[in-house]
Amino acid sequence: DSLASQVAAGEVVERPAAVIRELVENSLDAGAKHVTVEVQRGGTALIRITDDGCGMDREDALLCMERHATSKIRTKEDLAAIRTFGFRGEALPSIASVSRFRLATRERDVLSGTEIEVLGGKLSGVRDHGGAAGTVIEVRSLFFNVPARRKFLRTEATEYAHIEQQFRLHAIANPGTAFTLIRDGSVAFHLPATEDPLERIRGLVGEDLVLRLIKLPEVEHLGVSVAGYVGGPGLSRSSRQQQITFLNGRPIESPAINYGLKEGFHNALMKGQYPVTFMFLEMDAHAFDINVHPAKKEVRFHDGFAVREAVARAVKRALETGSK
Ligand code: ADP
Ligand code: MG
Repeated sequence: DSLASQVAAGEVVERPAAVIRELVENSLDAGAKHVTVEVQRGGTALIRITDDGCGMDREDALLCMERHATSKIRTKEDLAAIRTFGFRGEALPSIASVSRFRLATRERDVLSGTEIEVLGGKLSGVRDHGGAAGTVIEVRSLFFNVPARRKFLRTEATEYAHIEQQFRLHAIANPGTAFTLIRDGSVAFHLPATEDPLERIRGLVGEDLVLRLIKLPEVEHLGVSVAGYVGGPGLSRSSRQQQITFLNGRPIESPAINYGLKEGFHNALMKGQYPVTFMFLEMDAHAFDINVHPAKKEVRFHDGFAVREAVARAVKRALETGSK
């Protein structure tokens, strides 16, 4: 069903950054301690994700190229997670249906692994693989067989900017994992694993910016807990690009959060200015819905006012103490 996969691909992978989102998520799910993302020409020529996760045996490696062949639905909670976090078992076959795809994987405790090649959704080779334990996935010539989609890609610089933003999100959400980003052969970021979220942010945005961040006090309000960092009034941008919020470890966007920030900063901001934000929300998974479309991260809170209020309080308190 390679046509069905191509259709699904349109939903799951709208651009190179989305391929990276899906593949890095898989690496993290596989328990990787180091994930390397390599791209050439804004990801249009090559995307290569290398991880040191659990790897797959041959049966699973072949199976994961079939649609809906997820290994991740085992319990009722998993089923609930589908509702919240989107499709399951779609990513690999979708990506493979619109690229020249190669997967090489080996489990830690076995001598020989498996290498699989798929060309535009058609299995074109299976052989032994003797590489390092973990998984390497290469996606070349994305959309080579879907000219209509290829036409929608922007310039390589724009696609790379999306890739870097996606990389930042993964890296900030997972400081305990080392991440490397290689762009056209040179290292753009190399981020060692750390227990300190601020250390990870420093690695991404630099010391100068980090010195100007104010730590949010940990606020708990009606089941919403807020932590993280915000830029003081002098550290804002003309877009929301650097306002990053994670809900239970996943990047999200929501008007309730935007309102909460605005309220928290109140008179401290000029119109059209958006303070740099790295915010981590935690709340019960039953207290919100995430649009099931995998590419969207819009969240609907059952009690948006509680979220807004929690964010506003955290920011207000941070500004009070930060300005003393
Ligand atoms: P999903 O992540 O929703 O299960 P995917 O199509 O993204 O669906 O992946 C299918 C399956 O392939 C996963 O459930 C997992 O078992 C396996 N898999 C994919 N990537 C990796 C990886 N990097 N390391 C180990 N297993 C992987
Ligand atoms: Mg996946």
